[in-house]
Amino acid sequence: VRRKLIAANWKMHGLSDDLSWIDAFREALGEAHDRDILVCPPATLLAAFTKACRDVGIATGGQDCAAAQEGAYTGDISARMIADTGARYVIVGHSERRAGHDERDVHVRAKAAAALEAGLVPIVCVGETLEQREAGEAIAVVTNQLGASLPEAAGAQGVVIAYEPVWAIGTGRTPSPEDAEAMHRAIRKVFPGEGAMLRILYGGSVKPENAGDFLSRAEIDGALVGGASLDPEGFARIVNAVW
Ligand code: 13P
Repeated sequence: VRRKLIAANWKMHGLSDDLSWIDAFREALGEAHDRDILVCPPATLLAAFTKACRDVGIATGGQDCAAAQEGAYTGDISARMIADTGARYVIVGHSERRAGHDERDVHVRAKAAAALEAGLVPIVCVGETLEQREAGEAIAVVTNQLGASLPEAAGAQGVVIAYEPVWAIGTGRTPSPEDAEAMHRAIRKVFPGEGAMLRILYGGSVKPENAGDFLSRAEIDGALVGGASLDPEGFARIVNAVW
């Protein structure tokens, strides 16, 4: 059985005062259920967050990494540096990086490979645009994107996939849980023979109000939560939607 993973992607939010989120979240969370919790704060807070979360059952991750591990790359942060903070995960290929920084599948693949090399679990993000969905191409687009974004070394146990339809991110719109499940089923087939081990998260306008609709589905192994994860009580309600 795959353990559900509920992940917070803070994007470009958070200052040092926001370390208080951890205590507020834990208080709101209450009794522990059987699931994994991950927070991906901005890079400036990652080391402090990782230290504060070490003994309280919250994993941490970066939001992006470079394809190289070190060198003359001003402003970039490598997977090895992220691993050095004690973090265990890194998001790669988020649609905001693909669209805003012109990252292509080939770059995402190199970043995911760097993450694996550094001992991190890459969370590889894929998702179709509204235009692609309306044209009936969503499954073909996403499975192609995934095939081109995965390094050869990636096995189902060493990576996490996040299905984030671009049109659902920050919009309040979501696919139906049935449509999300159909996509997750198609993604699982990209890992022949080991799909049963693969964790596939749904992301895009997950809120306390709709989290249970997605997390109760057998094909949906967790959530990648943006805006709603900034509120500790709200994120605790989303985590507690897992039973
Ligand atoms: P929202 O939850 O704000 O829609 O963002 C989703 C997302 O992009 C998580 O990576």
